[in-house]
Amino acid sequence: MLNALSERLSGVLKKIRGWGSLNESNIKDGIRDIKLALLEADVNYKVVKEFVDDVTKEAMGEKVLKSIKPAQQFTKAVYDGLVRILGVGGGELSIKSGGISVLMLVGLQGSGKTTTCVKLARWVEKNYNKKTLLVAADPYRPAAMEQLDLLGSKNGFTVFKKEKMKPPDICREALEYAKEKSFGAAVLDTAGRLEIDEQMMDELTRIKDKVDPHEILLVADAATGQVAVKVAQGFNERLGITGIILSRMDSDARGGAALSMAYITGKAISFIGTGEKVDDFEKFYPDRIASRILDMGDVVTLVEKVQQDIDVEQAKKLEKKLKKNKFDLNDFLEQLKQIKKMGPLENILELIPGLPKQANINIDEGEMKRTEAIINSMTPREREHYKIINGSRRKRIALGSGTNVYEVNRLLNNFSQMKKLMKRLPKGGKPKGNMLSSLMKYS
Ligand code: GDP
Repeated sequence: MLNALSERLSGVLKKIRGWGSLNESNIKDGIRDIKLALLEADVNYKVVKEFVDDVTKEAMGEKVLKSIKPAQQFTKAVYDGLVRILGVGGGELSIKSGGISVLMLVGLQGSGKTTTCVKLARWVEKNYNKKTLLVAADPYRPAAMEQLDLLGSKNGFTVFKKEKMKPPDICREALEYAKEKSFGAAVLDTAGRLEIDEQMMDELTRIKDKVDPHEILLVADAATGQVAVKVAQGFNERLGITGIILSRMDSDARGGAALSMAYITGKAISFIGTGEKVDDFEKFYPDRIASRILDMGDVVTLVEKVQQDIDVEQAKKLEKKLKKNKFDLNDFLEQLKQIKKMGPLENILELIPGLPKQANINIDEGEMKRTEAIINSMTPREREHYKIINGSRRKRIALGSGTNVYEVNRLLNNFSQMKKLMKRLPKGGKPKGNMLSSLMKYS
């Protein structure tokens, strides 16, 4: 996430930590490097100025210069400055207990709006327990309606669409439909254009007047830098947005939009999109993002992600099996599926502090798939008793899974190693770490 900026900033901080002693002159150098990094990331100059003034004041103060650990204090000043410009964060939606809560999404074409509609609908269903209707309110681009319909239905949502009708009327009718069918929330996918224009704004205002949405959320592409900030200002002035969703935070965005948006618009960034899948959607926490940018890792999000995505019942069952040393290849496969549910491993590794940014650790998703294929090609008995898998069985499995005997051998060796390790676990005690680390070693 925001790799280039993150590398630059954490590089500067590392350099400062190496200086041993800090004085006004080298602090100034450090701050100048930080300023350059921010400008290069296309952060709005007003934000850069505010940030630099803030950090300078803090860093030149007695607290830093006279402290026992000046470099740490300086790092903290930079971290605090980042947290401040990232705003208050958000993620709480104004969802009513009764009636239909209306969430209107606006943004330029290509900002990730349609994908975000589905992500938000999933979020509302999961976190607020509301049946959510998706509304295709962009009749001008049949392809856009089609896309929402496809993505929405694929993920189990009802999509309301009407051709040859004006968007405010589509929305009105959609809400009547939602009432009739007992939906608790509706997400409106409004039309986007390549740039803001009067006609577009007029129409969005008419939708707003007609349906009186509880939230008007702007979707902006994190990869676009300051342009996105201008767009946000435009939407906010005309519509009064209630929050911002930054899509494509996973891309190699320079960071300009993410760092400028909240400060310039005065509106909170509520959520971020972190991938193309519907579950790649997180609440925006300024402190966690600042930690990630400064490469301090983000352990809190990691723990939450694991808790959210791992099936607790499964984990309990597994723990029992581990204690009895009855862990077999079926369980191994189950673990693999749980890990896959959490999304690309790179995303997860990014949350772990201190790991190098660009995968020196080569997590090979392809290899995970092959492992799955190998286990899937085994008979149930083989999965339960891996020791019966002799040479000819290995050949058959390799053939069936489209791999080779070498790969099958490697998997079985690793599995056998793992079993040996498990035997050494203290009786009744909890296994140290989890299967994740064993699998990572395997991959
Ligand atoms: P719209 O024109 O604003 O409706 O944009 P779309 O929803 O069609 O998104 C445009 C492209 O961006 C699609 O290929 C999406 O899969 C992709 N996209 C949307 N959100 C994200 C995200 O958070 N991360 C990544 N990597 N891709 C995204």
